[in-house]
Amino acid sequence: MITSNFHTHTNYVDGKHTAEEVVQSAISLGMTTLGFSEHGYSSHDPECSLSKEKTLAYREEIRKLKKTYNGQIDLLCGIEMDYTSEDDPTAYDYVIGSVHYLVVDGVTYPLDYSAEKTLCCVNTVFHGDFDAYAEAYFQLVGQVAEKTQADIIGHFDLITKFSEQGVGPNFNSPRYIAAWQKAMQNLAGKAVLEINTGAMSRGYRTAPYPTLEQLRYWKKLGGQVVINSDSHHKDTLMFAFEQGLALAREAGFTCLGFTDRLGVYHNQLGEES
Ligand SMILES: [Zn+2]
Ligand SMILES: [Zn+2]
Repeated sequence: MITSNFHTHTNYVDGKHTAEEVVQSAISLGMTTLGFSEHGYSSHDPECSLSKEKTLAYREEIRKLKKTYNGQIDLLCGIEMDYTSEDDPTAYDYVIGSVHYLVVDGVTYPLDYSAEKTLCCVNTVFHGDFDAYAEAYFQLVGQVAEKTQADIIGHFDLITKFSEQGVGPNFNSPRYIAAWQKAMQNLAGKAVLEINTGAMSRGYRTAPYPTLEQLRYWKKLGGQVVINSDSHHKDTLMFAFEQGLALAREAGFTCLGFTDRLGVYHNQLGEES
């Protein structure tokens, strides 16, 4: 059984609960390791990222919680850095690198806000060509490990978040496949990919992402994976981890985990692996 999660949000930004409420929930769920990953400062999106002041308060609070709950649970202070984040990656135990926006001609288009906003961006900027939208997205994803010094790549195929609502790529399109494969080639050896169940807990998807086909390709490139809930609520810290694990196994992964910036390997399967 997996008892750790490294992608966790709090009410410092868009999560529901305080960091301490989340820690107490994790302990009651029997978790052994919990990594916080608040949204790193991005000046263009003050609503969905830490302010500079809150960044310092966040680091300080997690540092205190580590002490308070020492012996009960291992806590990590991570950060989810967007491609556009201006935070300092070296101030954290680890970094999740994610792409949440396309910025075109000075206009910021959020990728995961709603199916309607996605359609608006595809139609306005890319004249309805979803492959072109995907190419622009995956070009950034392919660079996000270097840009953010990421240890983990967050929700690799975020642009499929609304696929079940009818807004998403044609998975069989050669241009779409070439775009994600190129991104994976660029990321190979630089960071671990996450299997993300966050869109499931929020009701957008019935399966984790990335897809089985993408995970198999990542495995062929020698990649590693970790399972994360991208949780914004204290009760969803390990949401659908059984499905995430089944997907990882189907893709051929026998170990799950990543190495943080201090060189500590976090083995998500414990003795099972
Ligand atoms: Zn994210
Ligand atoms: Zn997140």
